[in-house]
Amino acid sequence: MDLYEYQARDLFEQHDVPVLRGIVATSAVQAQEAAAKLNTPVVVVKAQVKVGGRGKAGGVKLAHSPEEAGQVADEILGLRIKEHTVRKVMVAEGADIAEEYYFSILLDRTKRRYLAMLSKEGGVEIEQLAAERPDALVKRSFSPLDGMTDTLARDMAYEAGFAEADVARLVPVLKKLYGVYTAADATLVEVNPLVKTGQGEIIALDGKVTIDDNAEFRHPEHSQLQDHGATDPLELKAQKMGLNYVKLDGSVGIIGNGAGLVMSTLDVVAYAGEDLPGAPKPANFLDIGGGANAEVMANGLEVILGDPQVRSVFVNVFGGITACDEVAKGIVQAYKILDAEGVEPKPLVVRLDGNNAELGRSILDNAALPKLERVDTMDAAARKAAELAASADSRTGAGAASAAAADAAPEIGHQI
Ligand code: GDP
Ligand code: MN
Repeated sequence: MDLYEYQARDLFEQHDVPVLRGIVATSAVQAQEAAAKLNTPVVVVKAQVKVGGRGKAGGVKLAHSPEEAGQVADEILGLRIKEHTVRKVMVAEGADIAEEYYFSILLDRTKRRYLAMLSKEGGVEIEQLAAERPDALVKRSFSPLDGMTDTLARDMAYEAGFAEADVARLVPVLKKLYGVYTAADATLVEVNPLVKTGQGEIIALDGKVTIDDNAEFRHPEHSQLQDHGATDPLELKAQKMGLNYVKLDGSVGIIGNGAGLVMSTLDVVAYAGEDLPGAPKPANFLDIGGGANAEVMANGLEVILGDPQVRSVFVNVFGGITACDEVAKGIVQAYKILDAEGVEPKPLVVRLDGNNAELGRSILDNAALPKLERVDTMDAAARKAAELAASADSRTGAGAASAAAADAAPEIGHQI
């Protein structure tokens, strides 16, 4: 989970990293009040979106009075920055910036170590600096067992070209940021810019933190950092049902058992749809896992059928631990549950193979469910599902409609 800047700021503050005061606002009036409360000669109004480059996009502005802060917030709220709409701003104390630095710690999965990076030339996009002036970016790989020691922090600061007095001020801040990294179970802590003020103080002015979701069980306090407003409503619904679902942009709903099978199903469906009218693509990723019962199947279908972009659904199951007859019974029961809930079925293509496939297929045949077609190979079934989506689109003339639906759909926070 990526944090907003204001959440990173709060986290930094909890760990004694020097930051400036900041207050979140969702309206111009609130921003004006926040600026009045801060009561500093200059405030900065900053768009809260989970992307970088806000400054360049007009999402970071100075204001010299509460009234001006309100006006500036009004300009920033609603702005689109790299596909993200600004719904919140942070009003922060203005900093007297003398120099801007860069510092980050991240997880290096291939080396199974941490990587720290430091540069005297912060503020700019770090990818650009790394590409154009790699010498200006000091990189150090270190073991989680050693952590960010005084020696490491000092070495990095000297190598980056900091003067003696600045090194002494920098080292404790770098160590505290490492404290944030470990305490929060983060995979990234990035500060850009880390600034030196006119008085020579070091302050973390902009923070980006990514928290490792696998450590969620150790951090009940992190659940409140989750931003439901920015999560796709279908993803939220799926999350509540405990489903492993990711919304995508296409029109073919996908259900499978096992992440690997679902991933390859996405590829096969996209490939099958390539030369069909409207080039239908997968509408989602949904892994119902092993041992999927009727309820899980019904929940999965309910989420997928609730997606207005979906024109057809492809259920691709390879029976292993889960026997295909169980899955088939699950589909039959799912139909009953959905029918009772008044959910309209959409064309459904089912491919069952593996453990007890014959039995599963005959259960489906006997049930003669409306709009359900059984196709026994993955390629042919993917093709069928893509064709059904393409023909549903051409019948409803929905090339434009689904594009409009895609427009209206909230942003997808992540991809697979
Ligand atoms: P980003 O563009 O999304 O990375 O947003 P930042 O928070 O890093 O802000 C971009 C730039 O705005 C910084 O590099 C600073 O130059 C400037 N900036 C941010 N806060 C202040 C502030 O309090 N005072 C001044 N003078 N400039 C600021
Ligand atoms: Mn920044």
